Amino acid sequence: MSRWLWQVAVPVPLPRLFDYLPAAGHEQADPAALAGCRVRVPFGRRELVGVVCGGQSRATAASLDAATKPPALKPALALLDGEPLLTGELWRSLRWAAAYYHHPLGEVLHAALPALLRRGGQVPALTRPGVALSAAGSEALEQARLRPGPGRDVLGALKAGPMPVADLVAQIGEPARAAARRLLRRDWLQSLELPPARNLTPAIAGPPLNPDQRIACEHLAALLQADAYAGVLLDGVTGSGKTEVYLTAIAQVLAAGRQALVLVPEIALTPQALRRYRQRLGATVLALHSGLSDGERARVWAQADSGQPCVVLGTRSAIFTPLPRAGLIVVDEEHDSSYKQGDGFRYHARDLALVRGKALAVPVLLGSATPSLESLALVDEQRLQRLILPRRTGQARPPQQRLIDLRGQRPALAGLASAALTALTQTLARGEQALVFRNRRGYAPMLACAACGWHAQCPRCDRAMTLHRRLHALLCHHCGHRRREPDACPDCQHPDLLTRGIGTERIHAELQEHFPQVPVLRIDRDSVGSGAQLDAAVADIDRGEPAILVGTQLLAKGHDWPALTLVIVADADSGLFSADFRAPEAMAQLLTQVAGRAGRGDRPGTVLVQTRQPQHGFWLRWLAGGHAAVAAEELAQRRNTGLPPFSQQALLAAEAADLEHLDAFFKAVLALPQAQSTQVERLGPLPAPMPRRAGHHRAQVLLEAARRPPLHALLDTWIPAIHGLRQARRVRWSLDVDPYDLY
Ligand code: ADP
Ligand code: ZN
Ligand code: ZN
Repeated sequence: MSRWLWQVAVPVPLPRLFDYLPAAGHEQADPAALAGCRVRVPFGRRELVGVVCGGQSRATAASLDAATKPPALKPALALLDGEPLLTGELWRSLRWAAAYYHHPLGEVLHAALPALLRRGGQVPALTRPGVALSAAGSEALEQARLRPGPGRDVLGALKAGPMPVADLVAQIGEPARAAARRLLRRDWLQSLELPPARNLTPAIAGPPLNPDQRIACEHLAALLQADAYAGVLLDGVTGSGKTEVYLTAIAQVLAAGRQALVLVPEIALTPQALRRYRQRLGATVLALHSGLSDGERARVWAQADSGQPCVVLGTRSAIFTPLPRAGLIVVDEEHDSSYKQGDGFRYHARDLALVRGKALAVPVLLGSATPSLESLALVDEQRLQRLILPRRTGQARPPQQRLIDLRGQRPALAGLASAALTALTQTLARGEQALVFRNRRGYAPMLACAACGWHAQCPRCDRAMTLHRRLHALLCHHCGHRRREPDACPDCQHPDLLTRGIGTERIHAELQEHFPQVPVLRIDRDSVGSGAQLDAAVADIDRGEPAILVGTQLLAKGHDWPALTLVIVADADSGLFSADFRAPEAMAQLLTQVAGRAGRGDRPGTVLVQTRQPQHGFWLRWLAGGHAAVAAEELAQRRNTGLPPFSQQALLAAEAADLEHLDAFFKAVLALPQAQSTQVERLGPLPAPMPRRAGHHRAQVLLEAARRPPLHALLDTWIPAIHGLRQARRVRWSLDVDPYDLY
């Protein structure tokens, strides 16, 4: 009988570790040495993969548990790793994150590991399956015994040496896979394991740096030399050459034999972006994006974990990549909301980047044309250094911006005022391209009866349903509920149904009809599903012929179209009166990005913003000083009113189909003695901004404190107590530390 118990973090929503007897064969092992190893354990009627966090001797456990009857212990089923999978800095940072976000460690580890590993799969070998010519194959090739086709192409390609099957397929096409299999059976090929992917093409030099870039790069070079943490904000307008600065710093990191992690927003991880990094660095660039298979993801993880010099380029969850030889972490578009995980383990990848940078003692570079107020506040507190790139590179000038006052006029067409339509017509006549931005997909945000009060509403969310005319459907954008577009009013059978408001689908349709001679492209989530489709759609635009683009924020980022000279923002007022205190910040960011699409080439750009609030302070600041002016004002207001980042927030939210269960939950939660604190303000329970979604009632309590320690001290005891409440089992509840969306 073993004298040890293993303490295991199991992926279940409970804030504690679970004790198991050692797995067979490991009774004598010191659990401290097993910390970070995965283990398969029985849990209720299920089997789960957990991670050993340590152990205790059974004698201690018994004395601790003397008061309560110790539960019957089960042995772990199998130890899955010979060596700890999670070690060093990553292991420490993940445990820190679980404590900071008050999220169960088992779920945090689960979220951090690639799917293959969290299921208990083996860490992939770093080699790649490949094939080589056998003697018989060489002979066959020499004697030209094969007809033209994929088989002969495969043999031909292998003349230069063995190749991974994946590369053959990339070079020859999908038929190469079956051909290779046939040739293997014929013994003309032999299979073998090849070393991990390495890019051996030489780096292509970038453009010579301009003086602003040079100053930034020299500063970063010194920081990289210092071998210590430093937080740096690279504050550079759109197109100022921030990426060139990242690339220069990363090249230095690679030259020192170290690794760089680059986080980009979901929407920016395009094949072009990847190509740019690969070509400019001539190094191994490992991409982590949603298109990868589980095996590929795990392989990237393993490759980074091996410490090989490389660049890991990925979206939010790439922040959990092991970096044993880290040299630099870059967060591009650091203000982007996709860095915040919206459910489950609600971490913020930018914040974790700073945490990991400190733990790894490497510089963290945050880049943005529209820095978050959080980062600007850190600059004010001198916790981030700021480097500025104030100018666009090359010929491009900042665009001219103008408001179009919508008051007292009816839109001429497609929701556009006549001045906007005239500008659009002139732009096309000059042979240039235009973009119409509307952050609302669908045909119309509302469908209503002309006779009675009926309007299409989602029965599960109490919100208006959006008309999608091409689908002949009404869709709820909150829960996905769908119904057929009615022919007549469902309440009074009146045949006239009116649309209210306007979405991208309608703008697109009306512009297409009005400008039959130019291509009108719609880019939103309904028209393009994946990055590849988006790439195909923009290929048309890339040719530079006159065209109109209509789209949502999908269009706002990352693209560089020199012939695009006009941007029309169809409706920008919604952010001015939002209850969300972050709305003006978000709007200034989005407008900057959209406006940044205009005039990237040598022709000047124009941005026209349609508004019914031309006197609003937001617009006055925006026209005078753009994002920087809006941000300065917002930051001052947040300081005055004590809103984040000048206070610390956490949001306890819950939802239930039954309103009584929800009420009972919040009553019980707030009655807990642990809920009392003199230094933490409590707001609520209040209905959530969306009080009902997908048939569930939703409510929340917002916690706010001037400083972090009292808030976290409260959560430290309160959250475990909530887990113990009977009333908590009847609702779905969650905690969001540093929330961005009020649920
Ligand atoms: P950002 O990341 O700030 O949007 P990029 O680094 O993508 O800017 O640069 C925008 C464009 O300007 C790219 O096409 C890039 O190749 C080019 N560029 C960057 N730096 C220079 C430079 N010093 N000289 C000439 N062109 C440059
Ligand atoms: Zn009606
Ligand atoms: Zn709905």
